[in-house]
Amino acid sequence: MSGAHGTHAYDLVVAGGGPAGSTVASLVAMQGHRVLLLEKEHFPRYQIGESLLPSTVHGICRLLGVDDEMERAGFTVKRGGTFRWGTNPAPWTFTFALSPRLAGPTAYAYQVERMKFDTILLNHARRVGVQVREGTPVSKVLQSEGTVHGVEYIDQRGRAQTARARFFIDASGHRGRLHRAIGGLRRYSEFFRNIALFGYFEGGKRLPPPNSGNILSAAFDSGWFWYIPLSQHLTSVGAVIRHEMAAKVRGDPEQALLALIGECPLVAEYLADAHRVADGPYGQIRVRKDYSYCNTAFWRPGMALIGDAACFVDPVFSTGVHLATYSALLAARSINTVLAGHMGERRAFQEFEARYRREFRHFYEFLVSFYDLHVAESSYFWEARKVTGLPSSDAEAFATLVAGVASDEATLHEAGDVAARLAQTSSGLSRAVHQVAAQTKAGEEDMSPLFAQPTLGQAMRESAVIQRQALAGTTDGQESVLFEGGLVTSSDGMHWTTPPPQ
Ligand SMILES: Cc1cc2nc3c(=O)[nH]c(=O)nc-3n(C[C@H](O)[C@H](O)[C@H](O)COP(=O)(O)OP(=O)(O)OC[C@H]3O[C@@H](n4cnc5c(N)ncnc54)[C@H](O)[C@@H]3O)c2cc1C
Repeated sequence: MSGAHGTHAYDLVVAGGGPAGSTVASLVAMQGHRVLLLEKEHFPRYQIGESLLPSTVHGICRLLGVDDEMERAGFTVKRGGTFRWGTNPAPWTFTFALSPRLAGPTAYAYQVERMKFDTILLNHARRVGVQVREGTPVSKVLQSEGTVHGVEYIDQRGRAQTARARFFIDASGHRGRLHRAIGGLRRYSEFFRNIALFGYFEGGKRLPPPNSGNILSAAFDSGWFWYIPLSQHLTSVGAVIRHEMAAKVRGDPEQALLALIGECPLVAEYLADAHRVADGPYGQIRVRKDYSYCNTAFWRPGMALIGDAACFVDPVFSTGVHLATYSALLAARSINTVLAGHMGERRAFQEFEARYRREFRHFYEFLVSFYDLHVAESSYFWEARKVTGLPSSDAEAFATLVAGVASDEATLHEAGDVAARLAQTSSGLSRAVHQVAAQTKAGEEDMSPLFAQPTLGQAMRESAVIQRQALAGTTDGQESVLFEGGLVTSSDGMHWTTPPPQ
């Protein structure tokens, strides 16, 4: 808890209120810590990245406690993906249910309008006590003697302000510059040097049920298309083309997109009776270039990078939000463990970085082979098993990897159990957090209102100590360490702990 770091106004400051930032902020605040989240824009704001994986929906959202709200939002249910890809001339489909880890009711994800999804997560952060300020960009990372200890930001009146914190998380996405303070380099992929051109259509055709909510991905000579059914009427359509084809996206973007659609018979057929949305947030045709990269460092004392601020790999398997929310979970565990006084920062964050890099590497290696279009789908399935080393059939390994549940992480596919244990051990704490969060006054510039009341703060600290004592050293018994001297997850999913002796 915060006692050991009395000179800091906050235990954690987060830059960015996308899925990565909201998730890490909530998971740390849910342990009773003081968290400030600064977001440059005003929500709802547009973002690309609409096709989710089951690991986000049934793992992270369940752990956060927004799964019911997600269900009520009425997002399109995605049972898997349909591909016109490789040597097979006919589209082929995979379902998440093929993965042994997702058997049963969790074998689906959602296609989401990010304006709605990101707002659900940000509002949830507010409800669990995070102090959220929109329209407030972080402008500078503060550091001394090799340690980051806060940020400078511009408040809504345009004044420069300082927030001191024990930890700073950069979750400001691909465009931010704050990641430079980590001290490493951002390395762009030579392999995935692609350009995406995307827009929205109404009235597009749907795949036949039960796959009508699937993402449809279709390869064509210049690259590939995504076709994502966001609702019964609205479809997100994007072309991803190789860098050498850049001339095709110059000039009028609408003409360029329509010409590319004309090159891809399957997508042209699906859009034959559709019209492009021409106004509102979906009226613009947008371009993104060179968007696959990885930073050489993910953390340094006092600071870590998560989500697109750390790394991103080509969107063909819709892994961006999964990597953002999974890295947020890993970072939250490291922060919670250090703040609880159970472990040093280096050990806790080495675990964060090792697990995050492994997840990124699995997708990166797999995607390189997936871009070989001269093979049949069975070859992609085989590659998925090779990359993950999973002891299952090739097709099962493929479904497990592309569902985001290939890591040895019960939290991502059995979150119901983990969430129940978390609720059991921390119900008093979270009740208190909810009560005080409800009293939060918007726009307060200084201390988190959560800790403005000394008695409550004390009660929460004691409750968290009891909780940690109950959990210390316990694991769910399933997880193995990733490297020698590595850590395992506590049974509540919120901390790291040392593995029991063999
Ligand atoms: C073409 C394309 C297609 C994609 N399709 C998919 C898909 O189908 N499925 C999928 O899962 N992913 C997809 N992605 C990836 C997805 O968009 C990202 O991985 C995801 O949005 C990352 O979340 P994040 O929270 O890290 O960053 P973001 O969602 O970008 O959020 C970062 C936030 O930080 C804020 N910010 C920026 N600078 C500052 C600052 N200085 N101070 C404070 N706040 C700041 C921004 O306003 C923003 O709200 C796609 C990406 C591309 C390029």
